[in-house]
Amino acid sequence: MPEYGRESVENVCNSVDIVQVVGEHVRLEKRGKSFFGLCPFHAEKTPSFNVNQEKQMYYCFGCQAGGNVLSFLMEHNKLSFPEALENLAERAGITLPTLHSDAPDVLARRQARERDLKVMAWAADVFHRQLLNDSLGREARDYLRQRGLSSELIISLKLGYGLPGWNTLLERGGAERIAEADLLRMGLAVQGEKGLYDRFRQRVMFPIRNRQGQVIAFGGRLLSESKESAGPKYMNSPETPLFSKGRELYGLDRAVKAISQAGFAIVVEGYMDAVTLWQHGIDNVVATLGTALSPDHAQILRRYTPLISLCFDADTAGQNAALRGIEVLEGKGLAVRVACLAEGKDPDEFLRKLGREEFLAAVGNDALPATLYRILRLSKLHDRNTPHSLGAFGAEAAKVLAGVSNALERDAYVKHVVRQYKLPEAAFLVELGKATGHRPADKLSKTRHNIADPGGAKAATPGWVKAARILLGILAKHEELRQSVFDTWARMGFIDEKYRHLATWLAREIGPSEDPMHLAHELASELKSELAAALTAENLEGNALGVANECFVKIEEHTLTQEIARVKEALADAEGETRGALAAQLADLQRRRKVPQREKVSQLRGYRT
Ligand SMILES: [Zn+2]
Repeated sequence: MPEYGRESVENVCNSVDIVQVVGEHVRLEKRGKSFFGLCPFHAEKTPSFNVNQEKQMYYCFGCQAGGNVLSFLMEHNKLSFPEALENLAERAGITLPTLHSDAPDVLARRQARERDLKVMAWAADVFHRQLLNDSLGREARDYLRQRGLSSELIISLKLGYGLPGWNTLLERGGAERIAEADLLRMGLAVQGEKGLYDRFRQRVMFPIRNRQGQVIAFGGRLLSESKESAGPKYMNSPETPLFSKGRELYGLDRAVKAISQAGFAIVVEGYMDAVTLWQHGIDNVVATLGTALSPDHAQILRRYTPLISLCFDADTAGQNAALRGIEVLEGKGLAVRVACLAEGKDPDEFLRKLGREEFLAAVGNDALPATLYRILRLSKLHDRNTPHSLGAFGAEAAKVLAGVSNALERDAYVKHVVRQYKLPEAAFLVELGKATGHRPADKLSKTRHNIADPGGAKAATPGWVKAARILLGILAKHEELRQSVFDTWARMGFIDEKYRHLATWLAREIGPSEDPMHLAHELASELKSELAAALTAENLEGNALGVANECFVKIEEHTLTQEIARVKEALADAEGETRGALAAQLADLQRRRKVPQREKVSQLRGYRT
């Protein structure tokens, strides 16, 4: 691992903006001086994740995760410190001088990735040219035209065509000095008994991009299904060093902005569905890649929006996939609704027949909330024509509704279900009562956690903690006061080890030209969070020295209050002389607690002069 000096850290941190970096992973909204979003480190439905542009720190009022731009990348993207720094340096166009310049592993890793990306970009070019210009590409061009795709979209998505034959790509690669080993590693070639052959033959090619827009894989749709040698109708790149289908969503690079604008993401089952929606000017859409929605997918989506509209095929397979998708997405705290396209239709058919406005309604206001969708599915299993079937439906539906934690929301659903399925309300409420009584404890606590009000935790912060945090802020920002504030605080006692650590770090280890915010990643996780909390907290306006003195008063008050409580306790059991001494001590403590603030002020001033 390379080692980088603090100078490099300063340099890099001065060149990037935490709001921009975090904003690529979390959808942020400006509120006052700060930006708020859904915390990527814990499941929540109301944003308590705060990014402070001025301080270049983030802090979550829900789970207390906090730090600077480096620690964000380290924790969020699971990067080591050098990796996070390299990542930021790269985007800022800064070359990092290493303390130990020999870092063969890092260099080799970066070079391998760059080579892989080049191979994929090359292949995308080849496929694209074959689609547009090759006489053999006519069938593919006809197919795409028949699907209603414009040339502009085909070019902007860089759709392509894999020629028939077994080794056209391999031959082209040979002519352009692309190593066979590279094609094999990237899954463009397959090792057969008689040697290598092209994986994608006679297929329309959909480049799959990462969030930076780099091609990392391909999806290929077979043109003529008669050729039994050509493989399945849809085929993706295999897992490679660049690509893992459980972690990638087709179209995310294109959809991010639109998702943010629309306030929700449409998830479809395949890249052809996504492309069709784009053709109709609906951009907030991503597709899974021939795999069920995974918790990783949910985690990624949660960075951009709290609301998902599932738009799957109306057949049984599609509808079962929707049910599983709801579980996975709700498991990560996302709200889900399901677009119910009329029986037998996929998004393409629906758009062709009913048009864009109808489709937008289907994925928008007409989409069923996950709870009602679950009950709709139950209604298909139980015909309700016999007392037994009616009872089974009622009991299952009650279980679904019992999972809704908000009473008003649940009540609205109950009314809807009773009306929609013509259930006797009183009897249904009896079933709901049974189901609510049996609600598993873990589910209850989980729901409570999700709806916890982040402001509650903030309001409960004791005054002395607020004071300690403000003092940390002064230590961080006011270099000229560092020494005197630190010494005064030390003399009074820090109350908590955390504050002793942080104050010592700020006063003793941060050089005159260094910004502590840029070095916060050096701290242990608990200290980093506390520093972020301190720097995120509203600072008192006014002169720093005056504010510091007010804080010291608060801290001394707290120390005295604790001391008074301790003496009172001792006094209750004491007798004779001890009692007298304790009583005198108590009186002294109480008198000191009433002493006006002036004393503290002069104490600090006295120290400085
Ligand atoms: Zn959090």
